[in-house]
Amino acid sequence: MPHCSFCGRPQDEVKLLINGLNGCICNDCAEQAYQVVKDYFGEQDKATKGKGRRQKSFDWSHMPKPTEIKAYLDQYVIGQDDAKRYLSVAVYNHYKRLGQKTEPDGVEIEKSNIIMVGSTGTGKTLLARTIAKLLNVPFTIVDATVFTEAGYVGEDVESILSRLLQVADYDLEQAQRGIVFVDEIDKIARKSDNPSITRDVSGEGVQQGLLKMLEGTMVNVPPKGGRKHPEQDYIHVDTRNILFICGGAFDGIERKIAQRLNTHVVGYNSVQNVARIDQKDLMKYVLPQDLKSFGLIPEIIGRLPVLTYLNPLDRTALRAILTEPKNSIIRQQQKLFEMDGIKLTFDDDALEYMVDKAIEYKLGARGLRSIVESIMIRPQFEMPTSGERSFNVTKEFVENELNKARISAA
Ligand code: ADP
Repeated sequence: MPHCSFCGRPQDEVKLLINGLNGCICNDCAEQAYQVVKDYFGEQDKATKGKGRRQKSFDWSHMPKPTEIKAYLDQYVIGQDDAKRYLSVAVYNHYKRLGQKTEPDGVEIEKSNIIMVGSTGTGKTLLARTIAKLLNVPFTIVDATVFTEAGYVGEDVESILSRLLQVADYDLEQAQRGIVFVDEIDKIARKSDNPSITRDVSGEGVQQGLLKMLEGTMVNVPPKGGRKHPEQDYIHVDTRNILFICGGAFDGIERKIAQRLNTHVVGYNSVQNVARIDQKDLMKYVLPQDLKSFGLIPEIIGRLPVLTYLNPLDRTALRAILTEPKNSIIRQQQKLFEMDGIKLTFDDDALEYMVDKAIEYKLGARGLRSIVESIMIRPQFEMPTSGERSFNVTKEFVENELNKARISAA
């Protein structure tokens, strides 16, 4: 009787016996052989990939140029030209830095982490997210308040990097070139510029935690799904080449800027200088020392060499945000309706009215989204089964729906 040449069992003891030229293999042995082959090539693949990657330096010449990065951002983010320019250059330099080889001239490009100052809802996160999308690099957002007082690299940093690894699909090399957006960095500022007031230095320890990560450190991150077996190795993530973009509202920093400007304009040429300062928009004069006055420690400021600001959104900007960006709030709604075969349109005065309300609610661009969501609930509920092929949003409709929403909220 034919038998398996691997385990020796005869044909009637196995489910399936596959015939070869000079022997046979049963289904169980075939499965085991498959596993051996898979494991072998898996290991080999990892090893060669690792080697190959280490030798290959990053090819930055294919990365988009600063003007191209800005043009891309323009499609999604309204205004904020200065911030866009700063970001485009910083990101471009960052990728040049990744591509640098050790040159005999000894010139080594340092990392250009970025800090953006601007009120909430002006587009800081949107800018960072859009850049990451363009570059197709792993991107994650963290809240600066997750950094612990302890001042060491602990759980918090680990979980951030673990998230970055996850979005990189556990490709370590990719994750180590990713972008981390640290939101609300102003919330970890110490309350006073004077470090000698001991009861008021709460933010300092927290800032140290963040500093470690910005400076570049090796962090041991548990592998996919946690470290289930003690022998499973941690993944060593190097944060040296991760680009950090920090953002914060820095409420009240204008006062610090004004103070600095006033003390500087005393004396020669002062009258002319005062006239040139745009008092309504002091944010654009922001300098690293204002961040220090606000309570960021100098070490952190030093690790965030690119400082830029975002303008508050005015009426025109808010109106543009509704319809102009490639994935604007209105376009998203139209797309949702289109999927039900319904053409959604908005009267101009309806859009203007929504902008008025957003200004009234003082919620900036964030307010626009909640206004649109709340007025569209009823049509989104009723239209798919109504059999109608079009829906036009008028000013009266917006007024009515918002009034109803307010009454039900009361
Ligand atoms: P921030 O991070 O500054 O608090 P976000 O970037 O999260 O604000 O903005 C919130 C939302 O407002 C975004 O999802 C986007 O829809 C909209 N938004 C804010 N600023 C802009 C802008 N300049 N251009 C287009 N949309 C914007």
